[in-house]
Amino acid sequence: MSALPRHDEPIVAIATASGRGAVGIVRVSGRGLASLVTALCGQTLVARHASHRSFLDARGEAIDRGLALFFPAPHSYTGEDVLELQAHGGPVVLQLLVGRCLEAAAEADPATGRPRLPRLRLARAGEFTERAFLNDRIDLAQAEAIADLIDASTEAAARSATRSLDGAFSARIDALAAQLVELRMLVEATLDFPDEEVEFLERAGARARLAAARDGLDEALAAARQGALLRDGIRVVLAGQPNVGKSSLLNALAGAELAIVTPVPGTTRDRIGETIQIEGVPVHVVDTAGLREEADAVEAIGIARTWTAVGDADAVVFLHDLTRIGDAAYDADEARIAERLATGRPRLQVFNKIDAVAPEVVASAVGADAIAISAATGEGLAALRHALLRQAGWQAPAEGVVIARARHVEALRRSRAHLAAAIDQAEGGDAALELVAEELRAAHETLGEITGRMTPDDLLGVIFARFCIGK
Ligand code: GDP
Repeated sequence: MSALPRHDEPIVAIATASGRGAVGIVRVSGRGLASLVTALCGQTLVARHASHRSFLDARGEAIDRGLALFFPAPHSYTGEDVLELQAHGGPVVLQLLVGRCLEAAAEADPATGRPRLPRLRLARAGEFTERAFLNDRIDLAQAEAIADLIDASTEAAARSATRSLDGAFSARIDALAAQLVELRMLVEATLDFPDEEVEFLERAGARARLAAARDGLDEALAAARQGALLRDGIRVVLAGQPNVGKSSLLNALAGAELAIVTPVPGTTRDRIGETIQIEGVPVHVVDTAGLREEADAVEAIGIARTWTAVGDADAVVFLHDLTRIGDAAYDADEARIAERLATGRPRLQVFNKIDAVAPEVVASAVGADAIAISAATGEGLAALRHALLRQAGWQAPAEGVVIARARHVEALRRSRAHLAAAIDQAEGGDAALELVAEELRAAHETLGEITGRMTPDDLLGVIFARFCIGK
């Protein structure tokens, strides 16, 4: 049995964010909404035209007045009939309208004597977009891009989500899938004529086409990795003793970029830290300020979390204070932190306060792969920013990147592995064409998971459940 809710039931939800605002929208989607439209608005509506109407209760009195829009199927967001009521944005009035929609749906239609929409129910999170996907209005990667656009934490992430929503990422995946389909057809056709198997590699340049498909997958994989970084951001841990300049550095990095930055849900809330951006890439910086050895029970929980953050980090910055190098107590603590940081995560050695020491001190303390900075004057910060992005695997400028998810990266990686196996089989002395065909089929189907052409139902449930209600 599918875990998904039923798709043939009409649904209703408040589409705007909770709280008060100038406008709030109630959205209904389903088949055959015309009768509901008349009940709510007192008359029929011209398709896709904004009409100023009273929204009526059961006695015909106005609950509110606003704009009503009716999008008959299939030319709507979901591909079904969609009714949008743009009312005043108060939580009570919007709840009243939703309640009225449910009530009017259950009432008998004067024309037929039967309930208008007997199964109208509240929508689950993401259900409108899910219907758009199920009705082929958009593919799965585009549906995910809608959620990513809403959740975008930087301007660059938002713009790349729009590119994916417009189909830039899907088009790339579809082009790769088309290459694989052609290869599959070539192999399967050869299989039908066993005597000619040996000629397979020579036929139609199969070898070159396999290699071209592999190169295409490699490029798509690299692009998807960048897109996933832009969506999820990178995690940087800022470690160092008290007073080395951690908060000054964080402020300097954050202050340089005045664009909008909002924390991505679940990334910073439970840890001490802040989300900044570097070249449009969201960077979640975890400050290890609370890392003291003698901690009480409550602190210990925070410290344990921080060490978990160190383990999860894409990069760890170990910040040193040039003005205190050589001080015995300071040096001893440096050694202790270095030991704890030896977690295998990439570590950047950064020396702060170059403005306060003589050049010889900098020259003798700062190694070749270390970075010298001044959080106070900003010197060296550009080099640090680049090093952080490099460390986390960011290569591209944010321009032109399409947003992607870890799920896409993983599917591309698996598809690439199947294609590599197909190439190995084809190159092997007595090419086992059945095995080549099997690996090509697997490579093709795995790619299909990205755009949803071959996605199991349970995976769909997980993807759409993360949307907001009314979307
Ligand atoms: P934290 O405890 O590691 O967060 O360190 P703070 O950011 O609070 O800085 C500790 C002290 O060092 C403050 O007095 C800062 O003004 C000073 N400081 C931080 N960065 C620099 C720097 O680059 N140059 C100089 N001269 N002082 C700095």
